[in-house]
Amino acid sequence: GQCAAVCPTGAIVVKKETDQVWAALNDKKTKVVVQIAPAVRVGLGGKLGQKAGDDLMGKIVAALKRMGADEVYDTATGADLTVMEEANEFIERLESGENLPLFTSCCPAWIQYVEKKHPELLPNVSTCRSPMEMFGSVLKEENKHSRRKTVVVAIMPCTAKKFEAAREEFKENGVPYIDYVLTTQELIQMIKESGIYFSELESEAIDMPFSDKSGAGVIFGVTGGVTEAVIRRLAEDKSSAELRSIAFNGVRGMQGLKETTVQYGERELKIAIVSGLKNAEDLIQRMKSGETHYDFVEVMACPGGCVCGAGQPITDAEGKKKRGAGLYAADKMCSIKRSEENPVVMSLYGDLLKGKVHKLLHVDYQKGNR
Ligand code: SF4
Repeated sequence: GQCAAVCPTGAIVVKKETDQVWAALNDKKTKVVVQIAPAVRVGLGGKLGQKAGDDLMGKIVAALKRMGADEVYDTATGADLTVMEEANEFIERLESGENLPLFTSCCPAWIQYVEKKHPELLPNVSTCRSPMEMFGSVLKEENKHSRRKTVVVAIMPCTAKKFEAAREEFKENGVPYIDYVLTTQELIQMIKESGIYFSELESEAIDMPFSDKSGAGVIFGVTGGVTEAVIRRLAEDKSSAELRSIAFNGVRGMQGLKETTVQYGERELKIAIVSGLKNAEDLIQRMKSGETHYDFVEVMACPGGCVCGAGQPITDAEGKKKRGAGLYAADKMCSIKRSEENPVVMSLYGDLLKGKVHKLLHVDYQKGNR
């Protein structure tokens, strides 16, 4: 298990941004807003004197506050927006019968792979921005009229997220929605540099006004999580028995290919979940040969999903499993299970996102390929 040894994008040079982030944190005239990806909270375990797979979100928030962050949020809140948009898009495509299967779009290494190797599949890729980019554009919009300059920092399990943040699609007037992406490993380095005793920190809560997230948003960090979140959104039956049956329907587990079916009205939807680009390629070939077909395909470039991202500390198979289990345990502790029940999501649609859903939450990856 060389979980984090290989960068899935094949990038040789990974930009280090810790110096710029320290400069922003130390500058009183700059407001630093941080978002933390789901997989990061379970990625620090094994380091800084913590147990593997433990959910360390509260301590990470406390550390960032001491380091000078003004506001700290959970990217799971952005993931809730992604679930809303992606479920709508899926329903629209099921109704029109066009561009199926719908491929997920949260993994930038997968997007790059489609652009380079399978541009013919771009119409099938969801137009949803990744949770990081959705939340980044919301945070920049929210601070548009702030007197201080706002810098948005994203802490990610991923090196490919640095390239995503630098894409032209994710800039407004030349300014990126996400100013800096730090990997989990860079965060650990900065915590060490700060001299904070991480083990002794008491957990702190996520800030207002985006303090709520659903468990559906949290499980985005592990393979199958996006699919489970979308199925929760689509399920007509909202009971907890139904939630359990979704969980045991084949969406969970670290295998590179999982398949499941869900009933949606009269239709039986076929779903595939792949992690690892080799598995994605095999699946594409089997679809092209007519051997199989799907309505929805989740793809994550890293085997096991983001918990095993190239920005996370290296771990073994057991460590990967513990990280996944850590996210499912965090989901259990969330009082809100479904994205549509998150009050932050509701108030965003009623206010900040009014008339701006397309502008702030979607992206046209096909543009460069037309
Ligand atoms: Fe990044 Fe890997 Fe997650 Fe893709 S699967 S977003 S490359 S950590």
